[in-house]
Formats: sequence, C-alpha cells, structure tokens
Amino acid sequence: MMPSQIGRDHSHPAIACDDCTAVGNPDTLTLSHDDGCPVGRGLDEMSANDRAFFETRPNAPHRVRPVCWAEAQHLKRSGAVPADVDLTGWRVRIRPIGPGIRSRQYLPPRGGA
Ligand SMILES: [Zn+2]
Repeated sequence: MMPSQIGRDHSHPAIACDDCTAVGNPDTLTLSHDDGCPVGRGLDEMSANDRAFFETRPNAPHRVRPVCWAEAQHLKRSGAVPADVDLTGWRVRIRPIGPGIRSRQYLPPRGGA
C-alpha cells in the first residue's frame, strides 16, 4: 500500500501535515510524518542533534535552544499549538529523562514578543 495514497481527513485541517499524508490523533496530539516529509526529516535531524549534544555532554542537566522550523510546524500540525500562534523567538528546554528519552518544554520569548 502506498502511504501517499491514503486520503487526508479534511474535517480536522489543523491536525494534519501540509507536506505529507500524516493525520494527527486529536486525543494524543501525535502525528507521524511519512518518510521524506520535510517536517519529519527536520524533526529527525533535530532529534539527532539533541542526542549528539547530550552524548558529548553527559553531565548536562538540560539544553535550551531555539524552536526549529520543523518543530514549529509539527506543533501546529499536530494540534499541540493553535495554527495562528507565532512561535518566532520560542525556545525549547530539553531534558534527558532516560536512555534515549528526552522531555521537551516549550518556552515563550523572554519579555514577550
Ligand atoms: Zn509531514
């Protein structure tokens, strides 16, 4: 079966990916992107970047970095953040909470936009 042939549920336009066939689960706010989706690829790259950060800094309690484009798109498309929220200047705090498991906390810009 070709994943790209699966129809998108247009009744939940905010909970779908514009770049692939992924349709989110409104209850869990999860969204699994297709192979080759630029958002999914960006998330994978950022996840690898975070993993490398903690591998080279095993004592780091957390990492704070800007929210990347793919994360901002994913948050909106999964329904975790309303689509009209501007995530420019937002940051994410990543904490290792177990082997290969990291929590993410999204932080608004300091002092407001
Ligand atoms: Zn996607």
